Amino acid sequence: MMSNRLPLILANWKMNKNRSEIHEFLQAITGKLPLTNLLQVGVAAQSVYLEKMVDYVNHHQLPLDIFSENLFYVNQGSYTGETSPAALVDIGVKGSIIGHYERRKLFKESNGSVGLKVAASLKNGLLPLVAISEDTSTYDPTDIEMSPLTEIAISFAGIDKKWASKIVVAYEPAWAIGSDRTPTLKEIEHAAKVIRQSLTVIFGSAAANQIRIQYGGAVTPENAKAIFALPNIDGLLIGRSSLVADNFLRIIDDALAVEKE
Ligand code: PEP
Repeated sequence: MMSNRLPLILANWKMNKNRSEIHEFLQAITGKLPLTNLLQVGVAAQSVYLEKMVDYVNHHQLPLDIFSENLFYVNQGSYTGETSPAALVDIGVKGSIIGHYERRKLFKESNGSVGLKVAASLKNGLLPLVAISEDTSTYDPTDIEMSPLTEIAISFAGIDKKWASKIVVAYEPAWAIGSDRTPTLKEIEHAAKVIRQSLTVIFGSAAANQIRIQYGGAVTPENAKAIFALPNIDGLLIGRSSLVADNFLRIIDDALAVEKE
């Protein structure tokens, strides 16, 4: 990879895995994750399990960061059912997925609330991973010029460029999530370039070049390496394929091989 951006491979477990399944997974990857400064690896899981996961990771000294799948933008108060950024920091969580397509679609999460969550994450020392996607059922390459760019503009309005190196953007075409289809490599690279141009308008080119852009949507052990190797892609957000420890490890090994090339 040509850039100085540290690639991030993040599992998004969504609302899957119970306590014993999580323990089994962590045991399966213990001693098998690469000790490297070429790659950051993490798992995002349901909030209820995060503290136990952090404790396991710390106890076994795993090179693995634990992420939440959502958070609120206020640290404390009368917000029944929400998860405070300060509470996530308190238990050792590293960052949070913000504005995943499923949250936008099923829970009507708005670009405005995504923006507030980005600001709150940065203020509290959490890495914000902002997921953006075309809200279409079929792929139209022109979409990348439209809806995701609106999402980017609102998500990062008012964010100082000094935070750029902490920000991750995940490009996830809505139709690829949960499907067995990905865009072509050319389309993914094009989308990432358009996203970086849009980040350049907001932050200037030096800062925009520090922002990591992941690809997510139907990543598998078979297609991960080629997608990861794209020049403007700085990591992967992986749903289903991350649920099986061996698949997750294989993707990580392939990514590391690319970094070492
Ligand atoms: C996701 O929803 O973030 C995702 C990447 O899902 P999948 O890999 O299962 O398509």
